Amino acid sequence: MKKKFSTVILPAALALTLGVSSAAFATPQSTPNGPYIEDNQNNSLASFMSNEDLAKKLQNLEKSANGKMKLEIAGYSNLAPDGYQTEADKGEPIYLVKFGDNDPNKKRILITAQIHGNEQIGAEAAIDLIQKLSSNGQEVNEILDKVSIWIMPRINPEGADNLYEGKWYPTRYTHQTWLPENIGLPADTVAPWYYNKDGSERAQNNEGRVVYGIPGYDQNRDYNPNLDFRVENHNLDEVASFLNSRTTNNSRYGGFYVTAEARTVTSVFQEFQPDVFVDVHHRGFNTVSDEDNRSVPVQFAAVVAEPYTDPFTGKQYEVDEDVLTLAKQVNALSALTLQKGNSHFGAVQKYPNVNLPGTALGAFALNDTSIMLIEIKGQSQTLGQKQSGMLKETVTQPLMAVFKGLADGSIHEVDTKVYDEIPESANPIKDPTSRN
Ligand SMILES: [Zn+2]
Repeated sequence: MKKKFSTVILPAALALTLGVSSAAFATPQSTPNGPYIEDNQNNSLASFMSNEDLAKKLQNLEKSANGKMKLEIAGYSNLAPDGYQTEADKGEPIYLVKFGDNDPNKKRILITAQIHGNEQIGAEAAIDLIQKLSSNGQEVNEILDKVSIWIMPRINPEGADNLYEGKWYPTRYTHQTWLPENIGLPADTVAPWYYNKDGSERAQNNEGRVVYGIPGYDQNRDYNPNLDFRVENHNLDEVASFLNSRTTNNSRYGGFYVTAEARTVTSVFQEFQPDVFVDVHHRGFNTVSDEDNRSVPVQFAAVVAEPYTDPFTGKQYEVDEDVLTLAKQVNALSALTLQKGNSHFGAVQKYPNVNLPGTALGAFALNDTSIMLIEIKGQSQTLGQKQSGMLKETVTQPLMAVFKGLADGSIHEVDTKVYDEIPESANPIKDPTSRN
C-alpha cells in the first residue's frame, strides 16, 4: 500500500466531523487545463487492451495473488437473445474477479466497468484496483478481512473489441441482432428502443457518424428493476404490445434483458447481493463554470432512478432511506478524496439528474443496493490515452477510500450533506476543440 492512502482518508474524516460545507470543494479559479483533442485521428488507441490482452492480464494477476484473488468466467456475450443454446452462441467471456466470497457477515461491493465498450479507462482503472488488492499490504489485508470485493472489468467485450475497416474501433453498443421470433414474439415485433439497428456510432469525423454495420444494444438500458424479467417467461402478447407502442417502449421503463451481458451481470448481482454497487463510465467534456476553467475530470451520482412500478406485475420498487444514505456517503467520501487544493482532481461534479430504471445502477438501486455512478471524462475515441494516468486515479483513489470506510465502519459517519453540496453539472462543451 502506498502511503497516499492514509493521507487521503484523514482530511475527509476531519472535514466530516466539522460538518463540511461546500467550502470542501475548491474555490473557482481560472486555470485552463487541456489537452483538448484537436484531431480525432491523432489519438493513439494502440495501447488499449484487446479482450485477449485483458484475459492474459487477469490470468497473470491471479497467479501472482497467492490465492487471494479468484478469476471466474461469469458468462459470455452472445449472438442470440435467448441465452447460450449452443456452444456457437457463446461469444467473449465476461470475467469476474473475486476478492472474498458472498459472506453475509462481510460488507460487499460490486464494481463493473466498460458496460459501454468505448469507455476503456474504466476497465484499466479496474485492473489497477485488482493489482492493489492483490498486493500483500497490511491495509489491503485489513480491508479484505471485512469487505468482499467483486470486480467485472469489462462487461461489454464485444463493443470493446469491435473492428471497423479492419481497425480496432470500440463502440458503445453490444453485438446482437433483434430476432423476436427466437424468443417467441411475432417476427414484426418492434425492437427495444435502445437497439442500434444499423450498427453506428456518433463520431467527430465522418460527418458525425460512423457505420460499422453490426447491430447491437445499449446494454445500459437493458436492465430492469424486476431482476427476474425475461421476455420468454412472460405473457408474450403483452410483451409484444408493450414493445409495439411508443408510449411504453421508452426510457421511462425498465429494459427487456435481451442481452446475455445484462443477464450475466444481474445473476452475479443476485448471487452476491452487494451493499454497494459501482458502475464506471465515461462522459463528455465540460469546465466547472464560466469563472472556473478547470476541466471536470469526473462526475458522481448516488441516484439515477425514481420509484418504479413494474408495468407487468404492478410491483413497486423504491430506494430505501438507509440505502440512499449509504449511497450518498459513498459518493461524498469519493468526492472528498479528490479534493487536493485547486487541482484538476478537485473539480468534481454531480452527474445531471436522470430517471433511468433500465440502467444497471437504476435497477440495482431499486433492489436495496447503494450505488455510485462514476463518469470519467472523454471516450476512447476522443481522449485516447491522454490523461489516462490521472483519470484512473479519479476512480481508484475514491474506491480505495470507500473500501476502507466500509471495512472500519467510518463510511457511516460521513455527512450526507457533503453529497448534496457537490456542485451540479454545468457548462457542457459540445466540441472540445472549440475551447481554449
Ligand atoms: Zn457509459
